[in-house]
Amino acid sequence: MAKDYDRREVLMKMVELPCSAMLVAVCGPLAAQADEGEYDPSEHYWGMGIQVDKCIGCGRCVEACKAENDVPREPFYFRTWVERYVIDNDGEVTVDSPEGGIRGFQAAEEDGDALRAFFVPKLCNHCDNPPCVQVCPVGATFITEDGVILVDSDYCIGCRYCIQACPYGARYLDPRSKTADKCTFCYHRITKGLAPACVEVCPTEARVFGELKSQASPLRRMKRMSALQVLKPSLNTEPKVFYSGLDGEVR
Ligand code: SF4
Ligand code: SF4
Repeated sequence: MAKDYDRREVLMKMVELPCSAMLVAVCGPLAAQADEGEYDPSEHYWGMGIQVDKCIGCGRCVEACKAENDVPREPFYFRTWVERYVIDNDGEVTVDSPEGGIRGFQAAEEDGDALRAFFVPKLCNHCDNPPCVQVCPVGATFITEDGVILVDSDYCIGCRYCIQACPYGARYLDPRSKTADKCTFCYHRITKGLAPACVEVCPTEARVFGELKSQASPLRRMKRMSALQVLKPSLNTEPKVFYSGLDGEVR
């Protein structure tokens, strides 16, 4: 049974986290919202679009996320990571993600068999029907009014149920706090009108962050203009991370 406590306190804690000095540039439409006054979650519903054909696998998003969110440096803790898919002429698929792609990728071996190769950035999908929230025995993981899945580390007991329940491998147990952790869409930034760190640094604008409520937002425009897909749609988790140009082989 979920523990009843004041979510506002948790949200205030997330909102008050400092933004990295390295990432002070603001994202136009988001900044305009913040300038208008206090952040009102009822006016927003957040999502992300990822344009697979624009990602060059440089890994800057992975590095920026680690720096911004104090993610442990060891190469098995990530809030976002990039996978490379190589499909050969026989239809065989090879997937790699050395150190989450944080240093980019070495060129694949030239064996003449590779039909197609592409990069797929991944992160928490901020599911509208999130299994991680359903299994948490203490209500430490929850969905906010503006559609972001967060973890309250003060209430998390480190049982790992959510880590096992997430079908996307998006969560890890922080070795320092022994609590569950994952992408927050940089909640401390978006509530100040800034873009998430990974979006801010992407040199090709492969990541599009924005509003799902507003028809005029770049994300809604992307949804109108392209056939978007989500990961593992058959699981009915209702992700809010949408991909364009996603190959059927991506898992
Ligand atoms: Fe939860 Fe995983 Fe969905 Fe994120 S991707 S909301 S951690 S089930
Ligand atoms: Fe791909 Fe952009 Fe991340 Fe580079 S920064 S790996 S182009 S999503």
